[in-house]
This record gives sequence, C-alpha cells and structure tokens, in this order.
Amino acid sequence: MPLSACLLSGGVGGARMARALDLVDDVDLTVVVNVGDDALTHGVYVSPDLDTVLYTLAGVEGPQGWGLAEDDHKVMDSMAWLGADTTFRIGDRDLATNLFRTSELSAGRTLSDVTASLVESFEIEARVIPVTDDPVRTVIHTADGPISFQEYFVHRRHQDPVEDLVYQGSGEARPAPGVLEAIGGCDVVIIAPSNPPLSIWPILNVPGITDAVAAAERVIAVSPLIGGKALKGPAAEVMVALGLPPGNEGVLAAYDGLVTDLVVDHEDAADRQTLSGPDLHVHVTGTRIAEPEQAAVFGSWITDLASR
Ligand code: GDP
Ligand code: CA
Repeated sequence: MPLSACLLSGGVGGARMARALDLVDDVDLTVVVNVGDDALTHGVYVSPDLDTVLYTLAGVEGPQGWGLAEDDHKVMDSMAWLGADTTFRIGDRDLATNLFRTSELSAGRTLSDVTASLVESFEIEARVIPVTDDPVRTVIHTADGPISFQEYFVHRRHQDPVEDLVYQGSGEARPAPGVLEAIGGCDVVIIAPSNPPLSIWPILNVPGITDAVAAAERVIAVSPLIGGKALKGPAAEVMVALGLPPGNEGVLAAYDGLVTDLVVDHEDAADRQTLSGPDLHVHVTGTRIAEPEQAAVFGSWITDLASR
C-alpha cells in the first residue's frame, strides 16, 4: 500500500520537501500550500509559494529555488524602461503563469481550481492545493507600522525587525476543497522545513486546519534550521523577534504540541538529547535537500520513518 502523505508547505523549503516525497515510489502526496504571500503586483495575481511548489515538482524551478529556469525578463525590462518599479521581478514565462491565473480568477474560477489546471499543464503527479480559496494576507508589523508581506520581503529585503504578524482575512477563511480531507485522511502529516511564522502559521491559522492537524496520529516536522540558522531568509530572526526560543526549541514551540516527530540536521544532533520527551521523538539526519539527489535520499529516509 502506498504511504499517503499530506505536506504543509511554504515556498522554497516546502517545494524542496515536496520534491523529496514526490521522488519516492509509492507515496501518494498532497501538498497544502500557504497563500499569505499572495499579492497583486504589476496588475497580476501572484501566488509565490504555490508557483515555487509547482515549478519545483515539475523540475523547472529557477536557480534560487523560485521562478523558472532559463526564463527571460524582456517584459520586466520594458516595464522598467516605462518607469515601473520592478523590484518584484517576474520572468516572462513565469508571467504567463501569473497572467493565466489572473484571467481565470477574473472569470470566476477559484484559486484551487486554477491550481489544479496548472498541476495538469506541468504534468505533476501530486495534488497541490492552496490552503484556502479565500484571501488571507500576511501583514508584518514593524517599527514603521504594518506592511504587506511583499513590501517586507522583497522591497525591504526582510531587514525590519518583526514586531507582530497578522494573517488578514484568516478569521473568515475556509479551507479549500480537499484540504481537510487530505489532512484527515492521510497516514502522515509532514510540516515542511518552511519558515514557521511566515509560511506555516498562515496555514495553521485558517479555521479548522490546526484542529485537523492536532487530530492526526503522526505529524512529522522537518526543521528549516541547520546549525541553528536558516539556509536562507529570516526564519531564525523572525522566530526570536516573536519571542520564541532560539534554534529547534523555537521550531517546536512554533508548533506548540502539534508534532509527534521533529527531524533535525546532523549539525543540531545535540537537540536529540535536549528536546526528546515522552510525546516527542527527535530524529537526526542530513536535511540539506536543495539538490534532487539529496532530496531523493531524504525522501526515502522520511518515508521509512513515517512507515515505522
Ligand atoms: P519561502 O516561502 O520561499 O520563504 O520558503 P519556505 O518558507 O518554504 O522555506 C524557507 C526555509 O526553507 C528557510 O528557513 C530555509 O532554511 C529552509 N530551507 C531551504 N532549503 C532547505 C533545505 O535544503 N533543507 C532544510 N532543512 N531547510 C531548507
Ligand atoms: Ca513564501
């Protein structure tokens, strides 16, 4: 029997984890993706984490893990020539994905429905579902006041200390069709090595999701930290700024009793002694999965773990 896994995912770290599981034969995979970073930019509806997951599963992701490989930027160059602010750069073929999404949404389709079409076009086997079809937007409170996720991340290069996070719209949001069924019906829920407050909390904040995860028998979280630090991005700083303990203790605290297993890197092997407890198993392995070869090894390892 295949192992059915439901992965909670942000962008790059989540997409790499999705690929790791997708590379294993006999894993039936559903990826539930954060939409808190979605925005309107250059007149199009961008859904950065969804696209990162789609592109990575299709094996066509860009060198940094997001965007498309070997994309051109003729449109952005022309926009810049016209005087537009192109700090948020979208490649030409990537723009086609976003134009398609935008026009289908304007025609009245839901985000999950449009995503299903993209899954088909990119010939992806896994199911990829936005956590919700309703608008949820991560708002970052800084010393200068509240700013949008893209303002914080792209324009201000995540330099502002984060004072608070608000997931605007999450109170009224409903899980997209299939999300609760995937979480409730799988053998294992896996929380990707994504940024806990910026990528996973906006998923858990959609009403019904945390309860569904709490009800799952097995919840394995993979730490995004290696040697106590994020490979890229502000995860470690944001967690500490929000009052969580440093390192993997903070990752655990971020998931507040939800996880049965935490997977940490060899560099943090000492955490197995300090963090393990009667209700928590801490496992140590190599968690660098940027390369498909590493991802394949990690994918089989975690599938074995989940099957035990
Ligand atoms: P974003 O939405 O693109 O910012 O991506 P995520 O929130 O999904 O993931 C960001 C996190 O991924 C960062 O904190 C990184 O440390 C983590 N990450 C990226 N690549 C890897 C990897 O190969 N292994 C592990 N363990 N974490 C990774
Ligand atoms: Ca993201």
